[in-house]
Amino acid sequence: MQHNNFIVSEYRNTICEQMMTSMQGFPTSVKVTPIPAFTDNYIWCLHNGTQAVVVDPGDAAPVLAFCKEQKLILSAILITHHHRDHTGGIAALAAAITDLPVIGPRGSHINGITKSVAQGDIVKLTAIGCEFSVLEVPGHTLDHIAFVGHNALFCGDTLFAAGCGRLFEGTPGQMHRSLSKIKRLPPGTAIYCTHEYTEANVKFALAVDPENEHLQAYSDWVASNRAKDTPTLPTDLTTQCNVNPFLRCHDNNVVKSVSQYAGLELSDEIAVFTQLRKWKDNF
Ligand code: ZN
Ligand code: FE
Repeated sequence: MQHNNFIVSEYRNTICEQMMTSMQGFPTSVKVTPIPAFTDNYIWCLHNGTQAVVVDPGDAAPVLAFCKEQKLILSAILITHHHRDHTGGIAALAAAITDLPVIGPRGSHINGITKSVAQGDIVKLTAIGCEFSVLEVPGHTLDHIAFVGHNALFCGDTLFAAGCGRLFEGTPGQMHRSLSKIKRLPPGTAIYCTHEYTEANVKFALAVDPENEHLQAYSDWVASNRAKDTPTLPTDLTTQCNVNPFLRCHDNNVVKSVSQYAGLELSDEIAVFTQLRKWKDNF
């Protein structure tokens, strides 16, 4: 299907083709800026000096203010899942901009979506010269999708720096599978999460994996950034594979620590993930 600002290819491409898409960085003209919203949300804005695309606009006001200040025309919206803090700004933005494409998950449960996408679809954002593949990553919610391309991943509330989203709708098995899908992306992939939860997540990660030297160094880096009120995002996949306990359910120290918490002998990764998520929920 074709539109002024975007094209969605509806064929389901292979993982290999997705990798090809994600290996190239952003066009040099494109910048990605976090627009802060509410207390800890980031609305990621991809812009090239004239056109802009935003991911998960939970609130319209800061997006309109940013576009006005930077003299940008909003040309599309990407949505990862149905939660209000990711979708609450759609109506006001669509009212402000005629024929604004809103690309998001399948199902008619999100008001304002103009184009539904599924696993393997390619979203071509012609206005900013970018192209993303859609990954289905159920767990936090069942409708959750992520956008991967240009060596970057917009993952909504699925993966956080040093943490992962709560399981509001999906099972631990589904979330573990979704995180495994993300782990298979190229190591240097930049990860654009939607919340600044890093400092609290690192505290928990250190409780799980206190001997992890990567994590200790990361904790210092996070603390110094937060002290200056600097975002800790985007992060990258290599760093997360080294520090994030939710991506390390195979690691001996994590298995030992979570087994101790649960008072159980945990042998498979999903069992470890299940107890780890439970531990974090009660931390
Ligand atoms: Zn959410
Ligand atoms: Fe959220």
